Amino acid sequence: LGARLHGALSQLSRAPVVDDQVLDALLKELTAALLESDVNVKLVASLRNKVKTKVKKSLEESAAAGGREVNRKNVVQKAVFDELVALVDPGVEPYKPIKGKANVLMAVGIQGAGKTTTCTKLAVHYQRRGFRTCLVCADTFRAGAFDQLKQNATKAKIPFYGSYTETDPVAIASLGVEKFRKERFEVIIVDTSGRHKQESELFEEMVAISNAVKPDMTIMVLDASIGQAAEGQSRAFKDSADFGAIIVTKLDGHAKGGGAISAVAATKTPIIFLGTGEHMNDLERFAPQPFVSKLLGMGDMQGLMEHMQDMARANPERQKEMAKKLEQGKFSLRDWREQLSSIMNMRLTYRGSLSKIASMIPGLPAGVMDGSEEEATMKMKRLMFITDAMRQDELDSDGLIFFSFDKAGHPVGLNRRARRVARGSGTSLREVEELLAQARMMAGMARQAGGQNGWCVSHLFHP
Ligand code: GDP
Ligand code: MG
Repeated sequence: LGARLHGALSQLSRAPVVDDQVLDALLKELTAALLESDVNVKLVASLRNKVKTKVKKSLEESAAAGGREVNRKNVVQKAVFDELVALVDPGVEPYKPIKGKANVLMAVGIQGAGKTTTCTKLAVHYQRRGFRTCLVCADTFRAGAFDQLKQNATKAKIPFYGSYTETDPVAIASLGVEKFRKERFEVIIVDTSGRHKQESELFEEMVAISNAVKPDMTIMVLDASIGQAAEGQSRAFKDSADFGAIIVTKLDGHAKGGGAISAVAATKTPIIFLGTGEHMNDLERFAPQPFVSKLLGMGDMQGLMEHMQDMARANPERQKEMAKKLEQGKFSLRDWREQLSSIMNMRLTYRGSLSKIASMIPGLPAGVMDGSEEEATMKMKRLMFITDAMRQDELDSDGLIFFSFDKAGHPVGLNRRARRVARGSGTSLREVEELLAQARMMAGMARQAGGQNGWCVSHLFHP
């Protein structure tokens, strides 16, 4: 989805004027991309109409105001962005565990969705954030379920509870939660079974466990790869085990996220995390705006910030400095170069491919690092060559030094300095332009991120 949408949007930004024809072409591509990624047909149709209406209205309003020509591309891009955000944002705040009390979380979902794996990931997540965290295995249906949880928990050094002999999941859940409550644990995560057949029995079991442990938050674990089926499945679960949050798993690999988007829309329930791999660190916090901006190739500022905080443990001094710069909104090309090189290093110190790490970096469009690891590395190296060809004063600038301006102060194109850098680095002017756009986006986001609640996208569209 990301690559296709990004393609459509960059086509848009290459078009000299945005007329009805260009808009229609974009909407067509947008529709196709959403359908292809398993978003529900009705949702897609309504999104398409909303974007169209919004764009028309914006353009009419600005024409009526008689003010200066608005940037039509920005209007379209913003409309697409806002509508996609609305699609994944039901406007409901998920439960947030509170320190100093017992917060009971319960995972539900069909077998194989990734519940047990996700429970461990969640436990690790909350433990890292200072909660006393533990796991309860209430899956007595699947052979080896307790062993699996035990193994995960042991590896992650998380206390756990379960039984080889007790066959009543409700009894185990109650005993486990009770025990951990007494021991003053703060996040108690209950893993349940999820069979394929006997659905009504499964639902009865879930309700019984839920009544026994009274979870503060029930989480539906949803496998992204089930596509269109996600909508029906989530509705069925919502009706019996009313969940307050969704975690979408297996968004690594080739899963299409559209089913998950439809599930959110169908159940008006927020996604809280995404599972992006089998390892216990492969959990990403979900937030509508960064999710969509990533989808549209604008990077994930919040994800990056969190990632850098994690990195701070490995390399405290430099990373802290960088995070501070970001917070203060001071961001030069030199900083961008440092980011690029730290991405290269992260790959060595941090488990994960270059494309995965790069996908978190604002300004690196989704899909840019797709392809083989070698291709991604090459692309990254070329970006570094460009910064290597810059002079000191250029590196210390925000990049505007490479542009020529019209009388009104709007950048109209790259100047001789930029051409010199392209020549000197053996790259193209287009690549230089891309890099500058990335750095500029990063700087813009950094400024916005100065506030507590992350960044605001409007800045990107109305710089
Ligand atoms: P459960 O039956 O719902 O408890 O599912 P499990 O936690 O046992 O997971 C089923 C399979 O999916 C296991 O092989 C997991 O390693 C795998 N899995 C879970 N989450 C993810 C994910 O985010 N990405 C990938 N690639 N695999 C996952
Ligand atoms: Mg399981």
